[in-house]
Amino acid sequence: MTFQDFNFNEHLTEGVISMGFTTPTPVQEMAIPIILAGQDIIACAQTGTGKTGAYLLPVLEHIGKTGKHHTAALILAPTRELAQQIDQQVEGLAYFTGISSIAVFGGGDGSAYEQQRRGIQNNVNIIIATPGRLIAHLTSGVLKLNHLTHLILDEADRMLDMGFQDDIMKIISYLPKERQTLLFSATMPGRIRSLAKSVLINPASVSIAVSQPAVGIDQQIYRVHDAQKTPLLQMILKNGSYNSILIFCSRKEIVKSLARELKAARMNVSAFHSDLEQREREEILLSFKNKQLPVIIGTDALSRGIDVEGIDLVVNYDVPGDPEDYIHRIGRTARAETTGTAITFVNHRDEHKLKSIEQLIDKPIRLIAVPDELAGIQQVRHEPAANKRPQRRQWGNKNKPKSKP
Ligand code: AMP
Repeated sequence: MTFQDFNFNEHLTEGVISMGFTTPTPVQEMAIPIILAGQDIIACAQTGTGKTGAYLLPVLEHIGKTGKHHTAALILAPTRELAQQIDQQVEGLAYFTGISSIAVFGGGDGSAYEQQRRGIQNNVNIIIATPGRLIAHLTSGVLKLNHLTHLILDEADRMLDMGFQDDIMKIISYLPKERQTLLFSATMPGRIRSLAKSVLINPASVSIAVSQPAVGIDQQIYRVHDAQKTPLLQMILKNGSYNSILIFCSRKEIVKSLARELKAARMNVSAFHSDLEQREREEILLSFKNKQLPVIIGTDALSRGIDVEGIDLVVNYDVPGDPEDYIHRIGRTARAETTGTAITFVNHRDEHKLKSIEQLIDKPIRLIAVPDELAGIQQVRHEPAANKRPQRRQWGNKNKPKSKP
């Protein structure tokens, strides 16, 4: 199958070509005809499968046909990073169509809010929003969605995890009843099915092999003890020919201390965590995207949103607790049918987590021996500082840490 088979208008076809899409991905092949036919859809597809194009292309085709005078589509996404990435895909695909879009999310200063307000007042065609900020614009009366024809819930499972269910239902109460609703989710727990029942009408189901990492990922594990992790990581970073690398840790304290250690070893790395200002996070992502920054260290928050081409190595410095998070983390490499490497460090405490991951992916992950040079590093009897859980303590208001949740 090719994109020609969908018969998109010539301007949209130009956008598809300029984005370098030649063959539809499986989720695009399955979902696009159904959405073009006007049916609601519930699709189980992870980031990295081409799911964004699967809903954007038919929606852009529809807006191209029906006119560009009002806000026709609303895309709800869990994080500002994802909202921005979706907006970038809209900009690329819609470049020759004259269809406009804006990403609406919280944070930032008053001028960002003003800019969003102006975009909304100008009847931008597609709004990509995080739920909280959209409600602010809806309740202020600036945003009217009377002509909306498409509602898309992207990463719906993540939105529910983040507690957005009530906000989503409130937003839906402002929308016309007659509309097409498309729900995309990486996982399909019962809560998502109940949400689907209440917001979709007679939906078609689309599912591509759930919870399986892309075939192009070379997955490896090292069995290590904690004291070996950082020296092994340094060895991999120095000796491997990797150019664009994501390192995942289980907590932001570990992210920060590992970044300090690697910087002390003169490595060009940045730590990405919730204590940073939005501007700082955007700068880090941009320089990573532009290939000026080769290494980002972060927690799982990083694994959901980041859509950067050419990531060739993902390192799990700690094994993620939820096997689905393993899939999300390693899915940052080998995107859209390229190849990549995913390395996981497993200490004895994390063996059971590895077992759950291997059960989920239904195969053992290749074990690589720790290099001889590191074999002599002794296990420390107590955990290194970075791996210790922070002590609970009572903070008076005055001493409250600035740290965000
Ligand atoms: P997504 O799963 O929507 O986050 O898409 C993952 C990446 O694949 C994005 O960088 C898209 O630009 C890219 N992509 C989506 N569809 C295609 C396609 N048909 N051919 C090549 N790349 C694609």
